[in-house]
Amino acid sequence: MIAQPKASHFIDGAYVEDTAGAAIDVIFPATGEVIARVHEATSAIVERALASAERAQKEWAKVKPVERARILRHAADLIRARNQELSELETLDTGKPIQETTVADATSGADALEYFAGLAPTVTGETVPLGRDFVYTIREPLGVCVGIGAWNYPTQIACWKGAPALAFGNAMVFKPSETTPLCTLKVAEILHEAGLPAGLYNVVQGRGAVGAALVTDKRVAKVSLTGSVPTGRKVYAMAAEGIRHVTMELGGKSPLVIFDDADVENAVGGAMLGNFYSAGQVCSNGTRVFVQKGIKDRFIKRLKERTEAITLGDPRDMATQMGPVVSAGQLEKTLGYIEAGKREGARLITGGKRAGGNDGFYVQPTVFADVTDDMTIAREEIFGPVMAVLDFDGEDEVVARANGTEFGLSAGVFTNDMARAHRVVGALDAGTCWINAYNLTPVETPFGGSKQSGVGRENSKAAIEHYTQVKSVYVNLGDVEAPF
Ligand code: NAD
Repeated sequence: MIAQPKASHFIDGAYVEDTAGAAIDVIFPATGEVIARVHEATSAIVERALASAERAQKEWAKVKPVERARILRHAADLIRARNQELSELETLDTGKPIQETTVADATSGADALEYFAGLAPTVTGETVPLGRDFVYTIREPLGVCVGIGAWNYPTQIACWKGAPALAFGNAMVFKPSETTPLCTLKVAEILHEAGLPAGLYNVVQGRGAVGAALVTDKRVAKVSLTGSVPTGRKVYAMAAEGIRHVTMELGGKSPLVIFDDADVENAVGGAMLGNFYSAGQVCSNGTRVFVQKGIKDRFIKRLKERTEAITLGDPRDMATQMGPVVSAGQLEKTLGYIEAGKREGARLITGGKRAGGNDGFYVQPTVFADVTDDMTIAREEIFGPVMAVLDFDGEDEVVARANGTEFGLSAGVFTNDMARAHRVVGALDAGTCWINAYNLTPVETPFGGSKQSGVGRENSKAAIEHYTQVKSVYVNLGDVEAPF
């Protein structure tokens, strides 16, 4: 058990174990080895987590924002100082290459803590003059927030939800994905080491039922989920029962549109980043790559060459560019979609098979061309390293086809015609768009989906709206004019 944590849960400032909960084996996706075992939270654990969060939040709300900020800032510094160790754990938890985790996971979590530390003291209300009287507004915390995470970016998700929640005076109870339970415990440990009062960031382990117990608890004011659309529907409905605030960061099948006049190398690079980073397990991936017919042959030739040069291997090796997918289930799912692509007549350009030995969950980076809109691989989120290339002729046609999906998370455009770039992103249904880039998500930028891909935005100043509520105070400076 090379990655066994001190205990399964982190509650009220300390590690807590309760082996009465069902065991969850944590598997290193590169080898299939069991690296840790945690236990699902029992109802007693869920109760302890929520009770301590409720108690701690009441005091935290009274702490001056600059003081809250100082603690978050210190936590960011600790995360950066321990980036190597945290990245190694993230690699074991997820199978993502250390080349990625050292630059995109803990560091992105630290960015969020640093950013929201900076923002916390700037959040103020307003004064509304009404002649003799006036109104002032106060931005107040929501209370106890629940975060539920997906398995692709465990540290980042834990921080993207935790940082704004804590910065604005809330408490957080976080349930990581049962597939990747380890890194969030480290986030909790570091936050408390940085001076966060006990109870403000609790971590409980478990599958969907534990998430559901949190979402439906009366003490919970807000639920922020990162996960798939079907889970989002369930969690949103449960939260609605208690009229809770929600942020839903859900799945996608995002379009990446490449016009004839684009720089081929940049467009290929963007498409590869948007399909093969994290072995394709990124929600915002541009998995429907629409390529205008005039550039198609050149694009596919370079895409094939560059894809075949990807170094697939042990994610602990700094030279490895792509690791396995996260689990045996995700491997089967991805291979099933590859078979569907072949069966439905897409042209396999490269890849298309399981890779490595029988123990790791490796899939060859795979490209299909001549994909049509009705094919399964063009409609459903795969969440593995499988790119679908579709042809198009004109701008109006491609915009209509790009929007022809229930999802609306992200979109990208590659072109050297800037007027067209802005026109096209203006017409695309997506929460985040990139022009001549893909998958860059700095903390300063709002991130989230439209249509079925979600509600609410994470990061940026937009998060203030999602972790605070406004109180209006009417101040009467004269006599009360009552009609009776
Ligand atoms: P998932 O929907 O299976 O699980 C997400 C989380 O929800 C897990 O922690 C799970 O235990 C929990 N859960 C499941 N059922 C629940 C229930 N009934 N009540 C409460 N909680 C429940 O997703 P996943 O397979 O872990 O992650 C992959 C998905 O996440 C993909 O669809 C991907 O696009 C999406 N994702 C979205 C973003 C984003 O920011 N938009 C980021 C990363 C991943």
